[in-house]
Amino acid sequence: MTKGKSLIEREAEWTGSSESISYQPTKGIFIGLLSFCAFIIIVAGFFFWYIPSVGLVNIHPALPVIFGAALAATSIAILIGAVGLSFAIVKGRDMFLSYKFRGVLIKFFLPLIMMIGGLLRIQKIKIEQAFIEINNQLVKGMGKKFKPERILILMPHCIQYIDCKIKVTQNVRNCVGCGKCEIGELVGLSDEFTIDLFISTGGTIARRKVYEKRPNVIVAVACERDLTSGIQDAYPLPVLAVVNKRPQGYCIGTGVDVASVRNAIRELLR
Ligand code: SF4
Repeated sequence: MTKGKSLIEREAEWTGSSESISYQPTKGIFIGLLSFCAFIIIVAGFFFWYIPSVGLVNIHPALPVIFGAALAATSIAILIGAVGLSFAIVKGRDMFLSYKFRGVLIKFFLPLIMMIGGLLRIQKIKIEQAFIEINNQLVKGMGKKFKPERILILMPHCIQYIDCKIKVTQNVRNCVGCGKCEIGELVGLSDEFTIDLFISTGGTIARRKVYEKRPNVIVAVACERDLTSGIQDAYPLPVLAVVNKRPQGYCIGTGVDVASVRNAIRELLR
């Protein structure tokens, strides 16, 4: 971001950066990895049953059947989770049990998909983008609406214009809205919808703010990596995530599409 340039000028210059790729989530990557994970788990489950069952029969003839039934039940549960999640991803909004599928996705499949994606050398950011998109879809699919005072907007500090001397992390209302970064517009959004806006200097501060305010839902802006870990940390609290812009790379002079934040808020308000 060039010093002193207006937001409009910077928008026109936005071409992405060498450190980031444009936000183009491909849910197909996630569904493919999800199916692959389910397949691997079921094959591994079979061998996990077959190999010890040879020894188990010597202890008691019924043990291989009992052990096999337990493993089959686990495999079926995993399969139902994977199929249900894929269905939720493909179907889009208003999905039955969206809330439960979000839990299965975050707690079980995401760590596994990250691991298998790493082994298959799939770009981590691509998986994160797909995950964020699916998470947002499932949060919207919950169909819940919230009062403004139960919503928290969380922004990273790197969104502030680098040479701005005003301290907005203590009190965002200190911003005078000079237009050199989006914070002024976001304060306007916060006033318009009477929703708390917090500029965080890091994950620990953000967690403390969430602990103090105890919101029912969060609208968060950050890079894919921070959003992914933030969504995991905040679970079961729902998070609608908006990926930031990074014309200068990560953590410096970042930006946000204010219209996307506005749309996210509108989705949540009753
Ligand atoms: S909009 Fe607010 S935070 Fe951003 S540079 Fe201007 S005064 Fe500073």
